[in-house]
Amino acid sequence: MSFDPVQSLSRVRHEFGEHGGVNMSIEASTTYTVMAAEIMPEIFQGHKNPEQGGCFLYGRHFNPTVYVLGRYLAAIEGTEAGYATSSGISAIACSLMQICGPGDEIVASNAIYGGTFALLKEFFPLKTGIQVKFVDISNIDEVRSAISPKTKAIFTESISNPTMVISDIPQLADCAHKVGAKLVVDNTFSPMLLSPAQHGADVVVHSLTKFIGGASDIIAGAVCASKEFITELMDLHTGAIMLLGPTMDPRVAFDLSLRLPHLGLRMKEHSRRAKYFSEKLSELGLPISYPGLSSHPQYQLLESMTNPGFGAGGLFALDLGTTDRAFEFMNDLQQNEGFGFLAVSLGYFDTLMSCSASSTSSELTDDELKEAGIAPGLVRVSLGYTGTLEDRWDQFERALKRVNMI
Ligand SMILES: *Cc1c(COP(=O)(O)O)cnc(C)c1O
Repeated sequence: MSFDPVQSLSRVRHEFGEHGGVNMSIEASTTYTVMAAEIMPEIFQGHKNPEQGGCFLYGRHFNPTVYVLGRYLAAIEGTEAGYATSSGISAIACSLMQICGPGDEIVASNAIYGGTFALLKEFFPLKTGIQVKFVDISNIDEVRSAISPKTKAIFTESISNPTMVISDIPQLADCAHKVGAKLVVDNTFSPMLLSPAQHGADVVVHSLTKFIGGASDIIAGAVCASKEFITELMDLHTGAIMLLGPTMDPRVAFDLSLRLPHLGLRMKEHSRRAKYFSEKLSELGLPISYPGLSSHPQYQLLESMTNPGFGAGGLFALDLGTTDRAFEFMNDLQQNEGFGFLAVSLGYFDTLMSCSASSTSSELTDDELKEAGIAPGLVRVSLGYTGTLEDRWDQFERALKRVNMI
């Protein structure tokens, strides 16, 4: 039977708290009383955190509200445990630093979020001694030959930013597990619709800043994994989240918790609209990349992994040929049509668009851009769900005409 993230979340939301409220409470305390002095040393020895049936100590370690949000996110991903952090990049950095030490290697997809690319390519080798090999993640042979006895993690995005490459999670998990490495998947593009842990991923990371937050108002992240891994991350002496300190505020955790029950509906609508646009663009013969189109080279692969009913996500990439034309098109849509915003990020309720090569992927050199398949005129669109779909398409079509694409 396929995994149902909506029902899984519902189950956790039916564990009623002490007052029976339908929403979680905000526990705004940074420190917690232990009921007997003897308990404190036990917590410091790593035996009694809340994940182990113990208690709360200090807000950077565990906070009840942040902890419950982590459990909700774990339910959505179908993992044993989860932890929410103050940003997506901190969730990624801490997870990988927990797994790897100096001299260890990460095999990473070359088509990933620009900030993660900079972290892996520049920061890790320079500051941590962790080495990273970049590969075309859709080429399993290339992945296999990049793996060495020093490989401790394979890192990829479920649907990659901005080229819409799909990761074959079962195969990658297999590659990782053969050498005792962990598969870490950034699932920011596809919450609800794809659950990497159900296909063998060991650690699922998120930027909650995008679809999960849904309103472009909060920077946040999460790690979903086994209890053992979350406990490691929160270890008082060696835990990367505990000691690097990307702590989420409980008020933020509460705010985000209200957006999870309708995440499924939002993802469905993002997907429905992105599919409609992509089909139209495809009929017009334009170079459109959307993994929900049967013409996408990895359509079948995505189909084989997705949870039914949520579609293929809200992002598509359209190649306008040149940077100039891409700029003209986006300016026109924003200024003249009032359609969407020329802005980075994604997963907003309105449309966001950017030219990846000269913005969010500008950390890549020209050669790296070419290798990752990011053309200079590639416009990434995160399609929102405001307005009627028909009106929005008319606006888009008019703008395409004005730049002579059709
Ligand atoms: C935005 C993003 C991140 C970084 O998340 P922040 O919340 O900005 O730290 C990581 N991965 C992907 C795929 C993203 O889109």
